[in-house]
Amino acid sequence: MASEESWKEKYLRELEDADQRDKQWQAERNVLERMLVRTSLASEGQTPELDSLLTRLRDDLRNQNIDIGAWRTLQDQIDKAITRLDERDQRVTIFAESSINAAGQPDDETDLAGHSHRLRIARRVGQLLGQLLNQVTLEPEVESQARALQQTLLSTNDWDILREGLNQVAKLVIEAVTRSQREFEVFLKRLDERLETLRLHFSEQSDAQLSRRDDTDNLDREIREQLGRVSEDIRSSRDLQGLKQSVSQRLEFIGSALERFRARDLEREDMLKMQLDAMQEKVAAMEAHSEQMQTQVRRERERALTDLLTQLPNREAWQERLAFEYNRWQRYHHPLAVAVIDIDLFKRINDSFGHKAGDRVLQLVAREMKSRLRNTDFIARFGGEEFVLLLPETALNDARDVVDQFRGHVGQLPFHFGGKPVTITFSAGVSEFREGDTEDAVFDRADRALYEAKGAGRNQVLTS
Ligand code: GH3
Ligand code: MG
Ligand code: MG
Repeated sequence: MASEESWKEKYLRELEDADQRDKQWQAERNVLERMLVRTSLASEGQTPELDSLLTRLRDDLRNQNIDIGAWRTLQDQIDKAITRLDERDQRVTIFAESSINAAGQPDDETDLAGHSHRLRIARRVGQLLGQLLNQVTLEPEVESQARALQQTLLSTNDWDILREGLNQVAKLVIEAVTRSQREFEVFLKRLDERLETLRLHFSEQSDAQLSRRDDTDNLDREIREQLGRVSEDIRSSRDLQGLKQSVSQRLEFIGSALERFRARDLEREDMLKMQLDAMQEKVAAMEAHSEQMQTQVRRERERALTDLLTQLPNREAWQERLAFEYNRWQRYHHPLAVAVIDIDLFKRINDSFGHKAGDRVLQLVAREMKSRLRNTDFIARFGGEEFVLLLPETALNDARDVVDQFRGHVGQLPFHFGGKPVTITFSAGVSEFREGDTEDAVFDRADRALYEAKGAGRNQVLTS
């Protein structure tokens, strides 16, 4: 945006400078043109040929038809006409001199009148040149040349010198016009560069976003229209000042169209940024919320699968895990054992020491068993004082040994109720998955073994 601003300022300043220079050149040119018209008028009446050339010169000047090439030709023709005039004069002078020699008096009044007429012209041109030099600024070297020329035109009677002086005035005019033309060319070139910069800027901008397409199309159309008018102006105009004015207007129009476009673009950017920020906030909030939700769901799920009293997985968790291990077993057929554990005569504990004592027993037994499990093993509270075990990669006898070790440890737990030591034992039935088994089939076998253990006197582990 900052570079945009400085570009615009620079451009406007340059346009102003060019305008200033142009005004100066315009003034100088006007003076030179007026002088040329007056000179040509003063020179009239010499020959019909010269008269028609001078008329054309004046017409060209009046119509602002500044064609340097045509003017050079015109200048050559004027030179030739003047040379022919001089030759005639010389012939007349020779004739006159011989006449004077013969008669002692000049007998050609016309020639004398012509001579003094040309002198008057030269003096007049000298005066005009003086006025011109007072009005225009020339480079120092050209200025001193012009001053010398003016002196010559004002003082000398030598027609050859005067003629050369008049030629130089014509050259001065042509140079001034050419310089003005060069200035104009430079101006147009710079203008072209500016327009190219604008066009480039525009095309870069137009690439940026799809959503800007409408605005971009509008700007494109506006710029094209103005550029079209600029080239039309350049093609049709013969008036430098008018042309620059209209071109400036077009550029101003393009500039303001671009500014409007940029303003809308900024608005769009701001809005997009706001939307993006708001969206990011929303997304962040949503992410946080979703994380909360996930945590909550995870917790709820854990709660739903955990037994409150013992903090062991519950019967639902057991079913889930059993299904998972069963699928693995079906696939790989690695050994998978199941144990059902039931605390012996638990009713009596409740009855003798209270329900809270019973709860405490359940909690401690659960903790003891869980702490002695392998990572891959799984224990759950099946209900009441019953626990179930899943032992992957474990054959039937190994599973029985593990459960029996548990039994030994539980039997060592130092319970004291009502000041009396109490020993807790359990009975268990163990089974393993065999070909063609369902989940329930293995459990039922283990449960039957447990029932047998109870029947065989409790505090023991049986397999099935
Ligand atoms: P057996 O050796 O034949 O298994 O005898 P038992 O007394 O353990 O068997 P029974 O099924 O007759 O009694 C189980 C008792 O466990 C009944 C019930 O009050 C008690 N019980 C079940 N769940 C809980 C519990 O969460 N807390 C407490 N304190 N007691 C429970
Ligand atoms: Mg029971
Ligand atoms: Mg029991």
